[in-house]
Amino acid sequence: MLYHKITSNNGTTKMVDLYEDEIFTYCPSCGVEQNVDTELLQSILIDGDFGGTSIYCTKCAIKGVV
Ligand SMILES: [Zn+2]
Repeated sequence: MLYHKITSNNGTTKMVDLYEDEIFTYCPSCGVEQNVDTELLQSILIDGDFGGTSIYCTKCAIKGVV
């Protein structure tokens, strides 16, 4: 089981179970929320920068924002 570990400013730690269908991002252009599927997540982990990756939505990619 993978989980997201969050420590608040007061030192309280919270752990949230992480499931592959519950990983989301938002388009940096229009802000629409997008699900990150397993295939995309794998490509980010192998080729990209996990914290610095921006994923544009299909609509913005077609408009040529990317
Ligand atoms: Zn967009």
